[in-house]
Amino acid sequence: LFVAFEGGEGVGKSTQVRLLCAWLADAGRPARATFEPGGTPAGAAIRAIVLDRAHTGLSPRAEALLYAADRAQHAHAVLHPALDAGGVVVTDRYIDSSLAYQGAGRTIPLDDVAAISRWATGGLRPHLTVLLDLPPEVGLARARGRAAADRLESESLDFHERVRATFRALAAADPARYLVLDATRGVEALAADVRTRVGALLGV
Ligand code: C5P
Repeated sequence: LFVAFEGGEGVGKSTQVRLLCAWLADAGRPARATFEPGGTPAGAAIRAIVLDRAHTGLSPRAEALLYAADRAQHAHAVLHPALDAGGVVVTDRYIDSSLAYQGAGRTIPLDDVAAISRWATGGLRPHLTVLLDLPPEVGLARARGRAAADRLESESLDFHERVRATFRALAAADPARYLVLDATRGVEALAADVRTRVGALLGV
């Protein structure tokens, strides 16, 4: 089973990934928790480049290709092997993040972003994508409390609104494959909804 968590800044993805994986381990179905960008050694190097835009002056296309390269390595080294072995994989960000950030955010046609990600992963899609949905001003306020928050100030609120709208549109276009949660709710209530959906998929 392949589960992805998606959403904008400060929505609580990493917390929910951790809680889901802890629950799965207790339920006897240990999962591989992973993330993008940076979930492999090569990916960590790519992450350092893409998150340092202020210094690298990356073009939108160069950025999109680097995220796709990170994803290709992630799929090759982590996702495909774990899934082929019958495991459960839970990733913090996947293709939808590129559609939202590189596509809508940096205004690259979504079809182009989708095509390079499809090529990068061999068409690997999550069985379930959990979208943690939050107004950007709320998420940004949360994320500002963290280290390395300077980077967040480089994008406009409008950029983050486009990112959010794209995540929501992707979910609306394929409702059976998405769980959309209002991330203003409490951590435990959100985790319970995630457990219900994943538990049903796994029969646990
Ligand atoms: O999820 P995480 O906080 O590790 O992501 C780091 C940053 O990378 C996010 O703040 C987001 O702005 C950016 N990102 C992006 N495009 C992606 C994935 C992440 O711009 N496809």
